[in-house]
Amino acid sequence: MAEKMRFNTALLHGNMSSDEKTGATMTPIYQSSAFEHESAEKLEKVFHNTAPGFAYTRINNPTIASFEQRITRLEGGVATVATASGMAAIFNAVMNVVRCGDEVVASASIYGGTIDLFKDLESYGIKTKYVLEVTPESLDTVVTDRTRVIFAETIGNPKLNVLDIRAIADYAHARGIFFIVDNTVATPYLCRPLEFGADAVIESSSKYINGSGSAISGLITDSGKFQWDETRYPDMKPYMKMGPFAYTAKLRNALFRDTGACLAPFTAYLNSVGLETLGLRMERACYNALTLAEWFASSGLVDAVGYPGLKDSPDYELSTRQFQKGYGAMVTIRVGSKERAFSVINHLKYALKVSNIGDSKTLVIHPESTIFCHGTEEGNRNAGVYPDLIRISVGIEDVEDLIEDFKQALQCEKKF
Ligand SMILES: *Cc1c(COP(=O)(O)O)cnc(C)c1O
Repeated sequence: MAEKMRFNTALLHGNMSSDEKTGATMTPIYQSSAFEHESAEKLEKVFHNTAPGFAYTRINNPTIASFEQRITRLEGGVATVATASGMAAIFNAVMNVVRCGDEVVASASIYGGTIDLFKDLESYGIKTKYVLEVTPESLDTVVTDRTRVIFAETIGNPKLNVLDIRAIADYAHARGIFFIVDNTVATPYLCRPLEFGADAVIESSSKYINGSGSAISGLITDSGKFQWDETRYPDMKPYMKMGPFAYTAKLRNALFRDTGACLAPFTAYLNSVGLETLGLRMERACYNALTLAEWFASSGLVDAVGYPGLKDSPDYELSTRQFQKGYGAMVTIRVGSKERAFSVINHLKYALKVSNIGDSKTLVIHPESTIFCHGTEEGNRNAGVYPDLIRISVGIEDVEDLIEDFKQALQCEKKF
């Protein structure tokens, strides 16, 4: 029956049950560091995963577990580990399968923080190589027998280029490589990467899943389908007896708990509340984004518009094939110069100037001077970041108000 639920119904009823003890309709916030058991024997069993239960919130907690189960259902995986941030999710997801001497291959147009993280990992002997276009042909130029992870985003942030997940999953699996997709910008509303063959999916749940910018957190959901080869992934060997749960078991029993990457129970609760309206919010935000992007394109007031839902976008055909219900809620515009970009941003009445996406409110940022300020000029260009680029995370306001606001801001002469 669970499998037959449609998207919004599943958000409300998928892996969701009222609280066992009280009947509360949401799993309450179990704000407790530890959980008592009736005997030393029982606690021993809980610690050895031979009895259900909770021991210590750094390992798991009922409020967090309830949120994780709902996400597992939504993503179509076998298990989910919720983390303190999207970055903690990426760090743990990658480090769970690599060791010193291994290589990661990543798209050059990924989130700036992820590029910074992959740079940090170099000192630990993990090298990342980048490809401009994530295609089998370009991967062939950098993949070696040391490659253990291919990492890309469903919709690149902020280039808004779209990944052909099925094609890359087939490529990775033919070579025994674990394929991780960051689905933060697309969200499960547009696409469930595990259905297209990804081995693990990352979400920064700080964004659209939380939905109102109220807390930082991340998610790692495992497909359970990767065929582990113990010569290539020797650290996975002790967990292979767990079958489809090998990846998650290793994560939860090692790096995730040992790095203390857990989120707060209160954050899991806020995310569970946000999750229930993900479909409604995305439906509206995608509609607003398309309407706004079409308006930009016809306005004559901008030099370029980035949006995969525009018919002349190079990603239109792939997006239409891969995404079920829209093209996402992120739009970029280029306005000629950094000065004009700043002027437009400063004249907007509604859009908040913040380094965030996925809020119900419209947000804008000048990526080059902020989230990509550590990048090199070449790296930034490869990531689609230019001095005159403005990134817009379109919210759920009335789109007529957004259009009026951008129109007046773009028509303003710069005042400095
Ligand atoms: C925000 C973001 C992250 C990092 O998530 P945090 O929750 O801020 O740590 C990773 N990937 C993408 C695509 C993001 O937008």
